[in-house]
Amino acid sequence: MDIDNSFKNITCDVVIVGSGVAALVCALCLPKNQDILLITKKTLTDSNSYLAQGGICVMRGDSDRDNFIEDTLRAGHYQNNKKAVEILVDESNAAIETLQDLGVVFTGNEDGPYYTREGGHSNFRILYHDDITGQSIMESLIDTIKGRNNINIIENCSMTDILESSNGKECLGIHAVHSENNLIVNSRATVLATGGIGGIYQNSTNFPHIRGDGIALAIKHNIELNDISYVQIHPTALYEDKSGRRFLISESVRGEGAHLINHKHERFTNELNPRDLVSKAILEEMKKDNSKYELLDLNPLENSIEKRFPNIYKKILEIGLNPLEDPIPIVPSQHYTMGGIKVDMDSKSSMKNLYAIGEVACTGVHGRNRLASNSLLEGVVFAKRSAKSIVKENAPLICYKDTITRKTLLSDTEVSIMIKERIMEDELAKAK
Ligand SMILES: Cc1cc2nc3c(=O)[nH]c(=O)nc-3n(C[C@H](O)[C@H](O)[C@H](O)COP(=O)(O)OP(=O)(O)OC[C@H]3O[C@@H](n4cnc5c(N)ncnc54)[C@H](O)[C@@H]3O)c2cc1C
Repeated sequence: MDIDNSFKNITCDVVIVGSGVAALVCALCLPKNQDILLITKKTLTDSNSYLAQGGICVMRGDSDRDNFIEDTLRAGHYQNNKKAVEILVDESNAAIETLQDLGVVFTGNEDGPYYTREGGHSNFRILYHDDITGQSIMESLIDTIKGRNNINIIENCSMTDILESSNGKECLGIHAVHSENNLIVNSRATVLATGGIGGIYQNSTNFPHIRGDGIALAIKHNIELNDISYVQIHPTALYEDKSGRRFLISESVRGEGAHLINHKHERFTNELNPRDLVSKAILEEMKKDNSKYELLDLNPLENSIEKRFPNIYKKILEIGLNPLEDPIPIVPSQHYTMGGIKVDMDSKSSMKNLYAIGEVACTGVHGRNRLASNSLLEGVVFAKRSAKSIVKENAPLICYKDTITRKTLLSDTEVSIMIKERIMEDELAKAK
């Protein structure tokens, strides 16, 4: 990598923005002769990938193929891109092998890993690591990436713009701000892996700094989006009487037997329905009860909860409740963005040499509603595809020639307004 004396002009083969599962897998799947720059807004561990609790899906042999595809389509209200779903399922075993080759370990015994189930799944096909699957995956990937000499990492560095060619058709790299220095990064390929839009919502399970910067810049540069109004609400975030990120109570807790109950301690829905249906049932019950939350009864898990979900157990104790005696307050919260930057099956956006992977991208795989534990898998499958495509395309390096005036960080309000406007437009278009 060439860095000029002022440390403001950088050239590299590939610049990757973000440090979630999609970004790291893309970086690690590119050949070692590629000069890669990976920047991330905070530290390497500050990603939603790190927060994932439940697990990652995998097809359980050929007999599971049709069911896995059907579960994903049913959860997505059949508005999924079927081709993307088939790729996700068919490449799921290879994706897990890639993770294992990169050092990831799943919970299991000498006979192999264990599998769990979540809402919307007709089979036990979810691999996990206790209830900290994301943390475990990310720590292995971070360890591996730190050992790669061809990957330069800059933490606390924010992308503030995309550099485009004078005809606006090609991406030439990015502009970023690091310790108040402006960086102009010229690259042959640019990969956006900036995650979803949770940061623009008041109630969300996401990190607040992950607020859709990639999407806002795509809007600014007329890069195509898809299904941006498809936003998932998770049924069971822990209700606390304060604002800020909501702690998630993983779907696997219900998959393994916990019951949703109302304030009269009556069950009111099938806990294993897809997320959108369960969220809707809870919101209706909250309206009837005139309450800010409903309840989750963990008693059916009395023999397993402490061992199987140690972090959830600990968090509930921390807020002063006894997980085995008190039903715990839960509230539906923004959780995931199904829509995003429209990409093809190689993760290419509508702008040449610009790729989008993970939650910022819309392959159409999730349709209107994501099936639980399909998101980490999508990140891995389509990050691998982007890496292959970058090598195949072998785009030339074209340095950005226009003068760049000093830029400031995108403000929360600016990003929020841009994205919310596009969500409304998409909703209106879909209602027609
Ligand atoms: C609490 C929780 C639990 C979850 N549990 C599961 C689960 O069990 N299974 C599952 O499949 N999915 C789960 N998900 C969803 C899944 O974790 C995410 O969808 C997925 O990890 C997104 O990965 P990503 O690589 O696209 O982005 P993220 O992991 O969200 O990372 C985005 C990265 O981009 C960086 N970034 C953003 N903007 C900029 C910028 N302007 N400049 C530089 N860097 C930037 C961020 O700092 C971050 O590093 C969960 C999500 C949450 C919040």
